[in-house]
Amino acid sequence: MTDLYRLLPEEMEQMVIELGQPRYRADQILFSLYYKFPKTISEIKQLPGAFRDTLVDKGFTIGSTQETHRITSEDGETTKLLLSLEDKVPVESVLMQYPPKKLFGHPRSTICVSTQVGCAMGCVFCATGQMGFDRNMKAEEIVGQVIHFAKILSDKGQHVTNIVFMGMGEPLANYSETIRAVQLLTHPRGFGIGQRSITISTIGIISSIDKLAEENLQIGLAISLHSPNDKLRQWLVPTAGENSVRDLIDAGQRYFLKTGRRVTFEYALIQGINDSVEIAKELALLLKNNGSHVNLIPLNPTAGDFERPARKNVIEFERILYNSGVNCTVRVEKGTEISAACGQLRTDVLGKYNNKRE
Ligand code: SF4
Repeated sequence: MTDLYRLLPEEMEQMVIELGQPRYRADQILFSLYYKFPKTISEIKQLPGAFRDTLVDKGFTIGSTQETHRITSEDGETTKLLLSLEDKVPVESVLMQYPPKKLFGHPRSTICVSTQVGCAMGCVFCATGQMGFDRNMKAEEIVGQVIHFAKILSDKGQHVTNIVFMGMGEPLANYSETIRAVQLLTHPRGFGIGQRSITISTIGIISSIDKLAEENLQIGLAISLHSPNDKLRQWLVPTAGENSVRDLIDAGQRYFLKTGRRVTFEYALIQGINDSVEIAKELALLLKNNGSHVNLIPLNPTAGDFERPARKNVIEFERILYNSGVNCTVRVEKGTEISAACGQLRTDVLGKYNNKRE
């Protein structure tokens, strides 16, 4: 079985030609996949019936993800989907909308996609990390998450404006499928979103960051730092291994020099753990004058014992960084009440899922 969403436009062309069809059939399929969002091959009405039958006979399918649950926040700006993959494994994806800047403009609609079922990195404050790792997701499953939301938005006359690889899993630990998904999503004959509208977030796999810098892509990179020193970071991110905080900052610098894209350092602020004035000063010393940007993320409630710092501590932390010349923002909180915010993604129906898999 091959999901048509897996094929890059060049591969789609090769496939139709091998099946004895003219090259333009590839564009008919691509147009349908990325503008009409068919659920089955029989819904690709641009194709002759006989060719649709051939595709089915040859084992092609559409959409390996099925929506099983949808929940929207009270303000209507955050929607979380629970999707079931081909092997019935559940995974979560989130849509976050921000009001338009202009009257009658479109809202900014950012999709946060998952790249793995669970995560092996085991960050102590993250719900996904506490689930453990199940499997890597395929490129078509990553793309499928965007397609589900694109259809929901298109029904309202809206569209996807940004995609962040910040859902469940470590994207760079599933490198080749993540890159294929980026290619499918940014290809002008594929989903066609601009490369600059995509950000990959990593806990910091240095060899993969260097590899990504060589891909000739203009995507944004976010590195999750969470601590200015190695001792604390190794406790928060037990799989950090040999990589030091300095190594991560240097890798970010290399990415910036190679791609020209500014790197964001993500910093989950956790009460009593990494939110003190001393730690803020240590972080400021490390990052000042190197052009990087820090995104402070006051921790969202998860199942663990970690808590979000008081608002005044967050502001103080930001002030120290800012006054030291470090470019810094505090992430706007979205979707906390539906467990759709950063670090909260964890398939709530896990019990049900485990029963199915036994
Ligand atoms: S924070 Fe990211 S890398 Fe760490 S466990 Fe959670 S999903 Fe994995």
